[in-house]
Amino acid sequence: MQPFCLAHTPCILAKHQRLPNKSPSYWDNTQFDIAIIGAGITGSMVAFFLEKKHPKLKVALIDAHPTPYGATTRNAGFACYGSLSEYVDDAKRHGEECALSLMLKRREGLSILKEILPPEQMDLRVDGGSELFQDSEASLFEKCLDIREALNHKISNSSHYPFKVTLKPTLESGLSEGVKVIYNQDEGSINSDLMLRQIQRRLSHIHKYFGCQVHQLSTHSSGVDIFTNHFTLTAGKVLVATNAVAKTLLSHLDVLPNRGQILVTSPIPSLNIKGNIHYQEGFYYARQLSDKRILIGGGRHIDMENEQTDRMETTSTIQTAIQQVLEAVIIPEGTHYSIDHQWAGLMGFGSNNEKSPLVGADGNVHYIVRLGGMGIALAPYLAKEWVDAI
Ligand SMILES: Cc1cc2nc3c(=O)[nH]c(=O)nc-3n(C[C@H](O)[C@H](O)[C@H](O)COP(=O)(O)OP(=O)(O)OC[C@H]3O[C@@H](n4cnc5c(N)ncnc54)[C@H](O)[C@@H]3O)c2cc1C
Repeated sequence: MQPFCLAHTPCILAKHQRLPNKSPSYWDNTQFDIAIIGAGITGSMVAFFLEKKHPKLKVALIDAHPTPYGATTRNAGFACYGSLSEYVDDAKRHGEECALSLMLKRREGLSILKEILPPEQMDLRVDGGSELFQDSEASLFEKCLDIREALNHKISNSSHYPFKVTLKPTLESGLSEGVKVIYNQDEGSINSDLMLRQIQRRLSHIHKYFGCQVHQLSTHSSGVDIFTNHFTLTAGKVLVATNAVAKTLLSHLDVLPNRGQILVTSPIPSLNIKGNIHYQEGFYYARQLSDKRILIGGGRHIDMENEQTDRMETTSTIQTAIQQVLEAVIIPEGTHYSIDHQWAGLMGFGSNNEKSPLVGADGNVHYIVRLGGMGIALAPYLAKEWVDAI
């Protein structure tokens, strides 16, 4: 399997001595056909498709935490395949072909997700998404307009062109007059914790090892030894799906953890914001939750250096910036609210901020990592593709 859009770097896995581990009992399962490390949306989707397509395979799903604790349950829940400015940026970074391929994979990934789970099992709402452009972003808005029509043709048919321009926000909110909007009717949102639990409920034959941190992988002729903090498992094939922290097991991969921060307000019943909002090239994003709270996140770009970290904690610099955008752009002046939740999660990007995922294999150790800020859409696609290919 080839890595996605990036040059393949050969993996050099250290051949470690067996670590001292607790001996398994006669009843313990320690030998697997496939072991998946990381039970976020990527690992869990792979497990789901494996169980469906290869029910006879013996599969382990391993996660360091008692309940998955990666980006999947700490994200903003946007079920989207990219805004126009994101496309412009992707095309600049990775080329047009790669940007288009990424968008199509995300689109397909969302369809796959919708086929697996009914809307109520992930609180899916398809209310569209609005990308906002202030006067100062006139040239970016023009660039987006330049590519809009061609892109609409490439990703859809004439009865359903997703990207539309509206000159006034269709949202009832505090958005300033004069802001320009490109609206995508396909966008939706989900409760990703609910989605993950529903996927995992369907894994009846998969052996789950939650609360097992994998320290090392060691390859040998018949497979891979997986050293955890509890015991050692062996599998014919391993899939590493640890996203932002993939380097701890596969040190040669170009994946760096980048923090994303979010805040959620108290309920604001007077507001009726429908759909997702993207602002400043998607560096800020917001939506109104079903209980009328505003979820808003982003701001990584204003303190890039410090946000390139694996520390899952909020900072006053970013939280203040998010709150300023909330008050300047999203809610009307004078709105009363409090901040009820603030948290951080880790996204995986490349060392030059590359956003494309890394998919590949070094012998029997496979990986699907670095899902950036688009795992909800991308993971179902990549997981299905991986299972179809084995
Ligand atoms: C603040 C924020 C907002 C986001 N908003 C969105 C959004 O709106 N829409 C969207 O599509 N995407 C969004 N994302 C990105 C999205 O959440 C991720 O791309 C996606 O969740 C990645 O899923 P994953 O399963 O690959 O990795 P993760 O969900 O990160 O899961 C990795 C798992 O691996 C486990 N693990 C790590 N190391 C080990 C080890 N050594 N041994 C065993 N287990 C290990 C972890 O415990 C974790 O459960 C956001 C991310 C963040 C941080």
